[in-house]
Amino acid sequence: MQPSLPFELRESQEPREPEYIRHPRARRYVVRVRVDGSVRVTIPRWGTKREASAFADSQRAWIDRQRARMARERAVAREELPLEVVRALRTRALGELPPRLLQLASAHGLRVSRVSVRNQKWRWGSCSPNGHICLNWRLVQVPAWVRDYVMVHELMHLRRLDHSKAFWKLVAAAFPEYREARAWLRAAEYLLASG
Ligand SMILES: [Zn+2]
Repeated sequence: MQPSLPFELRESQEPREPEYIRHPRARRYVVRVRVDGSVRVTIPRWGTKREASAFADSQRAWIDRQRARMARERAVAREELPLEVVRALRTRALGELPPRLLQLASAHGLRVSRVSVRNQKWRWGSCSPNGHICLNWRLVQVPAWVRDYVMVHELMHLRRLDHSKAFWKLVAAAFPEYREARAWLRAAEYLLASG
């Protein structure tokens, strides 16, 4: 069964429930607030989700302060790019991103039904069940190899519309340095929030 919603690299602006991630090398619970305000709690090998959740609750005041700081930073970032620069970048994006996507699609023997370049605030790209791929114009601001990763990620959704292990295997096979690219994108989330 195919899901009706398009899958995205970044899903929502609303702060969601913390994301819990078990890490075998972690020595303690760690709470991290991302640039978009979402929260990640690392669980050490000996830990439990219940304790992790209690720990996150105990850090609530700190989390709220971090979120407020991120929101301020996003507001500052929004003022940085003059409109003419944004227009020039978007024009460049329209000229550069779709041809590259189609090039990568044909390299992987995949067919894209439609490509759009959009101003998406909270995601780098998305792929809908009918094969329509949307790319964020801000991808022109990231290095070419990171941009390629986003495109390959969306292209692999043409084969699998989920983020299952099987999906990540496809991504790893098509783009072996995908972990580095994801780390790069996480660090560059402020770009999405600006403009
Ligand atoms: Zn995805």
